[in-house]
Amino acid sequence: MARVAHVSEDLRTRFEDVRSRIATRARQCGRAPEAITLVAVSKTHPVEILKKAIAAGVTDFGENRIQEADAKIIELGRAATRWHLIGHLQSNKAHRAVKLFDIIHSLDSISLAHRLDRFCEEEGRDELPVLVQVDLADEATKSGVPEAELVKLVRAVKHCSRLRLQGLMTVPPFLADTEQVRPFFRRLRELRDELQSKGSFSEMQGELSMGMSHDFEVAIEEGATMLRIGTAIFGERAAGV
Ligand SMILES: *Cc1c(COP(=O)(O)O)cnc(C)c1O
Repeated sequence: MARVAHVSEDLRTRFEDVRSRIATRARQCGRAPEAITLVAVSKTHPVEILKKAIAAGVTDFGENRIQEADAKIIELGRAATRWHLIGHLQSNKAHRAVKLFDIIHSLDSISLAHRLDRFCEEEGRDELPVLVQVDLADEATKSGVPEAELVKLVRAVKHCSRLRLQGLMTVPPFLADTEQVRPFFRRLRELRDELQSKGSFSEMQGELSMGMSHDFEVAIEEGATMLRIGTAIFGERAAGV
């Protein structure tokens, strides 16, 4: 018991700390803190911890694996919070994702877009907000659409009647020096701006999902509207996850 109480106090303190850092940096660069959504990345953490997080004021959770998220979402309920899928989505899990998540950050292929759209229709779901994940580092192992194929994918999403394209997402390479991450954030913003100025993407609200525990302040400076933060809120995960 004592341990759980301790954990929840730490969590609350860290969450408040992250929130105040977000607000401070946003104001420093003339942005409204309310325009930035904090997605608490709860992967690997058990439902008990998520409950503490909700009690501490978390309204958005990010999960990266369908199987793990499935159990948690069933236990906590779809309506308990907003659920964000932030990890790579395999096509055979697309149906489940449509049932479980409020928004998908990791759309990265035309075939996946078509599948999601079809499952929305089957499930009677009118709208599924999506972000297109862009692989800016050209890392073959990373998920995300290469920059050169972005426009084609965006066009395809537009033709999916149930998908609502809300913006772009990226996971830059992990670099301890956050100044080296800045160009990736900046590039994502430029791509967003280009898509918006083409005008044909009126549905896109221009969200930028970028920035994690160690680099979110730089991401805010470069225009992030959704931060995906795990460690800084929940503490370290088990190694290798
Ligand atoms: C795990 C994860 C995060 C959060 O990482 P932290 O460094 O713990 O903040 C953000 N985005 C994605 C896609 C992740 O998988």
